[in-house]
Amino acid sequence: MFDIKSIRADFPILRREVNGKPLVYLDNAATSQKPQVVIDAIVDYYSNYNANIHRGVHALSQEATDKYEEARGKIQKHFTIEKAHEVIFTSGTTHAINLVANGFASLLKKGDEIIVSALEHHSNIVPWQMLCEKTGAKLLVIPMTQKGTLDMDAYAKILSEKTRLVFVNHISNALGTINPIEAIIRKAHQVNAAVLIDGAQACSHIKPDLQKLNVDFYVTSAHKMCGPTGVGMLYGKEEWLKKLPPYQGGGEMISEVTFEKTTYADLPHKFEAGTPNICGGIAFGTAIDYLNQIGFDAISAHEHELLAYATKKLLEINGLKIYGTGADKTSVISFNLENIHPYDIGTILDKMGIAVRTGHHCAQPIMNYFNIPGTVRASFAFYNTKEEVDKLVAGVKKAQQMLS
Ligand SMILES: *Cc1c(COP(=O)(O)O)cnc(C)c1O
Repeated sequence: MFDIKSIRADFPILRREVNGKPLVYLDNAATSQKPQVVIDAIVDYYSNYNANIHRGVHALSQEATDKYEEARGKIQKHFTIEKAHEVIFTSGTTHAINLVANGFASLLKKGDEIIVSALEHHSNIVPWQMLCEKTGAKLLVIPMTQKGTLDMDAYAKILSEKTRLVFVNHISNALGTINPIEAIIRKAHQVNAAVLIDGAQACSHIKPDLQKLNVDFYVTSAHKMCGPTGVGMLYGKEEWLKKLPPYQGGGEMISEVTFEKTTYADLPHKFEAGTPNICGGIAFGTAIDYLNQIGFDAISAHEHELLAYATKKLLEINGLKIYGTGADKTSVISFNLENIHPYDIGTILDKMGIAVRTGHHCAQPIMNYFNIPGTVRASFAFYNTKEEVDKLVAGVKKAQQMLS
């Protein structure tokens, strides 16, 4: 049962006004809002059992450790991960990608190839460029099509015995395209390449089964899934996590230290140096519980209804063009109005209390492909409504009148 009214009541921020108008929050692809249960989990931690974990024998430390490990278990279960120690807490997607990229520096040699997609977020391009500079490996790109989808024939052509790694996002943050990751993973494995999927944009819409996907690495951030900022996860197959060297040195990641040699702790601690975002990890678990209570089938049904409705209504506006028109997409609409800069539309919408993103969405190569400076991006979550879509459409029409 999907009760939009009671869902909206879970989010205190949705009751506020912006510029004298009720907030219409359509920037969910940048970060999601937080339900009261997640806010409460954060307050509860700092009010009642704040302590460092895995160290103390005292009661608070034990409580905090138990809750933190319980959260790891929730992540494991949610993503259908075989072993709890295959879940590494990170500060987010960017950190997780850098952790893997850094680790691969010791596994690559000159002449090896890495494949990324043309639909990537900057955080998924820069670390691989750095890795290639360091190792002499070559970066190849799966091109995109006019629909904003990946050209899978071209992918098949650039895959080879030299391919060591393939990196693709599950869903594009700029366009909302859902990439065919099952096929991407299957094909990469045929040439023995490893695959890392960036799930930052996917996990608020989809519940991926990582065992079924048979993916080598999968990363995501809590803050796009109703959880707090500054925490996320890296899933890695045990065999890969054992092969990769640690990313950062520090407390918690060592087993024995002498000045001659340090031996590293077992997984997951090998990759969790220093005091982690304890409260963030715990609240991440709470956010996962919250989303599952609503249910991903219900979330998806509602979001698809919003997407279809908003697409239809926006396309009725003269001179409006949508980028990202593949058949498989989530509730993200990237668009422009003819002869109007996206920034100007965003500014007028803001005056009306409507929050959208304007710009290149950390995906400049996509904007270059379409030969545009950026887009206006409206991204919907399960707590958005058709009334809010109507407000967006009215706002865009008004902006068009004012600016042309
Ligand atoms: C948001 C996002 C990122 C970056 O996530 P952070 O939480 O900022 O590290 C990476 N990739 C995609 C597809 C994203 O949407």
